[in-house]
Amino acid sequence: MSSSHIVFLMYHELEVAGRKLCQSEPGYVRYILPLEIFRRQMAWIKESGWRGLNVDEAIRYPVEPGVCITFDDGCETDLIAAAPVLREFGFSATFFLTAGFLGTPGYLSAGQVRDLDAQGFQIGCHSMTHPYLSDLTEPELKREVVDAKLQIENIVGHPIEHFSCPGGRYDQRTLDMARHAGFTTVANSKFYANSSRTSPYELGRVAMLRDLTIEEFAATCHGRGLWQKRLQHRARRSAQRLLGNHAYDRLRAVLLGNRASKP
Ligand SMILES: [Zn+2]
Repeated sequence: MSSSHIVFLMYHELEVAGRKLCQSEPGYVRYILPLEIFRRQMAWIKESGWRGLNVDEAIRYPVEPGVCITFDDGCETDLIAAAPVLREFGFSATFFLTAGFLGTPGYLSAGQVRDLDAQGFQIGCHSMTHPYLSDLTEPELKREVVDAKLQIENIVGHPIEHFSCPGGRYDQRTLDMARHAGFTTVANSKFYANSSRTSPYELGRVAMLRDLTIEEFAATCHGRGLWQKRLQHRARRSAQRLLGNHAYDRLRAVLLGNRASKP
């Protein structure tokens, strides 16, 4: 990848020995990396002489090689598993929290969010209740984007500027609502690297999957092979448009051998 392009990595909950995951369905677990795999990936970044950046740092598009590290959903492992590893390697990251999940089993408490914030990590917003935003009415969308932002700001005591879309779904209304709410960026889960030419309201991110090898991880950080992922993604989205989000989720759950879930 040329130095002006940066790949944004998208992580979720991490698997820690002896700790129960927030959800156990195959559609959820494929996005969950064991802590040791995550650590190995961070070590690769360090050994390669790259930096691990939060969204604010990444959208300045520094010439030094680096990747942007993001986490969605606000699971407790953000603080108890990811943060210590990131600190060990001297990396920052952005943690996008689902406001309505905070304080429920497996997710961060308000105190833990403040801890993460105080450690210097960046806190972002990932909606109130984690719906597909493109399916919502205007008042529902406002609650998911505007109210969620205010709720997290009340916890940390400062503005929250970055938003990420649950399930990667969004439409123009979502982006307009985010902009009016005062978010300066919106991240999705489309497979492209970002550059200074990318709209800050359409930042691509690459989902980190459990079965990713370290070679595939390295290729992803370099921005290699993203076009193949884009093709697969486009085929999935066509099926979703054809079937509708809910029918698609049911079908996907049948194919993956369990009930529907989405991280
Ligand atoms: Zn999510």
